[in-house]
Amino acid sequence: MKLSQKARQLFPSEPRRVYDEAQKFTDVIDLTLGDPDLPPPRNIREAGSRAFLDGDSRYSANAGLIELRRAISDETRRECGIGFDPETEVIVTAGAMEAAYLALWSLLDPGSEAIIPSPHWINYGEVVRSFGAAPRFVMTRPEDRFVVRPEEVEGCISPKTRLLILNTPSNPTGIVIPGGTLDRLAEIAVKHDLAVISDEIYDHLVYDGRKAESILTRPGMRERTVVISGFSKRFAMTGYRVGWAVGPEELIRVMTQMTENIVECAPLPSQYAAIEALSGRTDGSYIRREFEKRRNCVLEELGTIPQLRCPGIDATFYGFIDVSGTGMDGETFVSELLRSKRVALIPGAAYGGAAYRDFVRIAFTVDCGKLHAAFARIREFLRERASSGR
Ligand code: PMP
Repeated sequence: MKLSQKARQLFPSEPRRVYDEAQKFTDVIDLTLGDPDLPPPRNIREAGSRAFLDGDSRYSANAGLIELRRAISDETRRECGIGFDPETEVIVTAGAMEAAYLALWSLLDPGSEAIIPSPHWINYGEVVRSFGAAPRFVMTRPEDRFVVRPEEVEGCISPKTRLLILNTPSNPTGIVIPGGTLDRLAEIAVKHDLAVISDEIYDHLVYDGRKAESILTRPGMRERTVVISGFSKRFAMTGYRVGWAVGPEELIRVMTQMTENIVECAPLPSQYAAIEALSGRTDGSYIRREFEKRRNCVLEELGTIPQLRCPGIDATFYGFIDVSGTGMDGETFVSELLRSKRVALIPGAAYGGAAYRDFVRIAFTVDCGKLHAAFARIREFLRERASSGR
């Protein structure tokens, strides 16, 4: 069968490759994928089960159940004080991933460009390419805590630039973009008439009592921003496949038309579960508390290994760690650690190429006991290498 040119240009996903590799070993501590290991709150599971048992198993409107769109609209108003019309400016999707796909499909022409601060969530680069558009990655630095410099974003803008893609809090760095940087980025978007995709799926997993701000609240952004979010991370609902986008009416309209050609609608029982999640009856705070505890555990362990450096983790369940102090690059560190100690991480280069070859990403989606065990193995790995003179 002759595959399309587009299909032949797809890169295999590095995280999936390392994950698959890790599954070949027994006794692996797997810190690869961003899939929370906690159960969703009980009332959410019950609501989903009830929908199945009651036979609520048909299609919904392409944009999702209106009750759910209302709940998402209320949630957005509560979080950032900005309202979206549930009838026309909200779409429920099969995961935030589908929302991102639809937004990119709607906003990019072949030959156009999208600016993506890097390291970045890999899917954005791949999907942009799959539409014949070009990602323009703006590299960031650990000394800036991987926060993009707005003047470098502006320096990348060309007549082909359509879009700026932000992800705060960030996968893979776990860093939140500060409000002052969002102010500057918003000014640039307005000045150059760029659309903005703001992926805020980790916005409820922020630690130390802080909150992540949204570029949506900046002047001139309501009409040019699509906010993408969902239930996967904050309610530990990855397998339910339900997310959303809110944005200007004409954009949501085409995203809704397009979803009819892809999935018709998000799975209906999951939509009922999602309504329950936002009902005000849900206490999902144990999820954030647990990940904050693990974050503390990861930072404490890193503090005892001077060869590993991390500029901090504000949010999410990821950390981006510089391993150059070990004398290895990220790729070597990951493959040798997996082979000799059965701890699976992901090479940083997967999230932005050679600029991050000295880094690895850790996903702390296992409990503190396993995290301590993983770091004990890492320490042993480094000790053995040092004593063998490597
Ligand atoms: N955005 C980011 C930044 C992510 O890390 C992920 C999941 N890894 C998603 C979107 C997609 O989430 P989902 O489709 O499960 O809602």
